[in-house]
Amino acid sequence: MASVAMNGGISADGAQRKLDAIIIGAGFSGMYQLHCLRDRLGLNAVVLEAADGVGGTWYWNRYPGARCDSESHSYCFQFSDELLTEWEWSERYPGQAEILRYMNFVADKLDLKRDIRFKTRVVGARYDEAANRWTVTTEGGETLTAKYLITAVGCLSSANVPKIPGLETFEGDWYHTGLWPHEGVDFSGKRVGQIGTGSTGIQAVPVIAQTAKTLTVFQRTANYSVPAHNAPLSPERKRELKERLAETRRTMRSTPNGHPFVIENRSVFDVDDDERLRIFEKQWEMGGLQFRAAFKDILLDKKANDEAANFLKNKIRQIVKDPETAEKLANIDHPYSTKRPPIDSFYFDTYNKPHVKLVDVRSDPIEAITPKGIRLKSGEEHELDIIVFATGFDAMTGSLLRLNITGRGGRTLSESWKAGPTNYLGLQVSGFPNLFTITGPGSPSVLCNMPVPIEQHVEWITDCIDYMRRHDVEAIEATPEAMDRWVAHVNDAANATLMPQAGHSWYLGANVPGKPRVFMPYAGGMARYRGICDDVAAKGYEGFEMTRASAMAK
Ligand SMILES: Cc1cc2nc3c(=O)[nH]c(=O)nc-3n(C[C@H](O)[C@H](O)[C@H](O)COP(=O)(O)OP(=O)(O)OC[C@H]3O[C@@H](n4cnc5c(N)ncnc54)[C@H](O)[C@@H]3O)c2cc1C
Repeated sequence: MASVAMNGGISADGAQRKLDAIIIGAGFSGMYQLHCLRDRLGLNAVVLEAADGVGGTWYWNRYPGARCDSESHSYCFQFSDELLTEWEWSERYPGQAEILRYMNFVADKLDLKRDIRFKTRVVGARYDEAANRWTVTTEGGETLTAKYLITAVGCLSSANVPKIPGLETFEGDWYHTGLWPHEGVDFSGKRVGQIGTGSTGIQAVPVIAQTAKTLTVFQRTANYSVPAHNAPLSPERKRELKERLAETRRTMRSTPNGHPFVIENRSVFDVDDDERLRIFEKQWEMGGLQFRAAFKDILLDKKANDEAANFLKNKIRQIVKDPETAEKLANIDHPYSTKRPPIDSFYFDTYNKPHVKLVDVRSDPIEAITPKGIRLKSGEEHELDIIVFATGFDAMTGSLLRLNITGRGGRTLSESWKAGPTNYLGLQVSGFPNLFTITGPGSPSVLCNMPVPIEQHVEWITDCIDYMRRHDVEAIEATPEAMDRWVAHVNDAANATLMPQAGHSWYLGANVPGKPRVFMPYAGGMARYRGICDDVAAKGYEGFEMTRASAMAK
């Protein structure tokens, strides 16, 4: 089947072939889903992708300093030993360009591009109950139909540009980090303003500061950060990583967050003050996300968290020379790691440069963008040539809702999710048969090293479709009861941690005005989630309603 000359769902004579599955998005999720459905199950599947290349996040996010916070040997597909052995990472944390090269390597190796239609944005998807098929509409006005619809649109792919009055009057240039121009931006001799100090902002500041004439960082929420200590991988380290592929894979599958390190089985108060300080110093020297794995209760117990938080705040005070700037940076209002924890390369040190300035817009908010720059509520105006929005994404639900999905009985996904997203296992929504959402809200997704949940979701969906075909099942749909139980479990899992305490976090949708405040990712841990999904499948897809072909025909 896969050998017929096709190009993204269109056969050589221009006719549309009868598709079994439409996948939306060609990042990690969509690429692997295509491979599984096409090459393992032999389905006719096509990927529709808005960009003109593969890579998803790493296609769009080309901002200065864009780099992965997961270590390179873990931020890749684990399903194929061949891919793992053939590819060689050059640094501890891969940069955007290297990850994009990796994605193209995988796409070419698996011959995926011939079934991906690039520059094809999906603007609508409607379920036809009588035919039991999904009709997808593209921006260009084309329609394609298939039995299965799988969204691989990414959790962080819908750029969020804050609605600040006057942006259209700005006489300089402005950019969002998630929609960065491919040709790059020349900052030399320019007065640059950056809004946002999350993971992306923290990566961008040191690099923009290297060439900008001046850099003014507008900070609403001060943030913790741990040094990445990024460096090229030595030949010995490369060899060691290759020799330990199986062990790394086992660790990644057994940990709550899919990273290749284990969380220590000790509490913050199991050790005395000196020992605790020694441990934190060691973790700081090691660098990276592993800092939070030093103790098992950092995300569970506020007092334990305070110890980590105070250590990190003191580091800021030690690094930043100007006491006033240091205090603004260390004035962090949420427990450590309850927002996405950044790692950095010389972020705090950059504020010691004379041409870099921090403006606290919590105490003096941005009121407007003017033709010349940014004006604060106090009337203070900052003249700028370039504004960089490092303001993140309409996370987890944004790209899904923009698909304008209509399910059974004409009910739209936006109506179903008016009060916040609800689903079963993060994978399916009642009322939307045969629609699967890879890393939807309610999945461990963004709380993990993401290739791990992505592979698990894709494999689970593939097994489910395989089961349906072998058992003569035409449609699968989560039951409302299973969905209610899952949503309650997602809430309980979040409330067992300190994470909901970061009230302004994008995990809660708080960065987008009007978005319902719901803690979206599943905080119960990846290993536990995998167990639940396996159990559901082993029990014949418990919590899902399956409609057999015989019942459909009636
Ligand atoms: C700056 C940044 C840094 C990150 N760092 C890390 C990290 O260190 N570790 C980690 O685990 N994760 C990280 N992530 C998360 C990252 O998104 C995931 O690791 C992973 O790349 C997600 O893959 P995906 O295929 O699910 O989604 P994406 O990579 O987001 O791909 C989704 C694709 O869907 C396409 N699409 C969306 N809507 C439509 C539509 N309507 N029509 C057609 N196509 C559409 C998009 O164009 C995109 O190509 C980071 C994310 C960002 C933004």
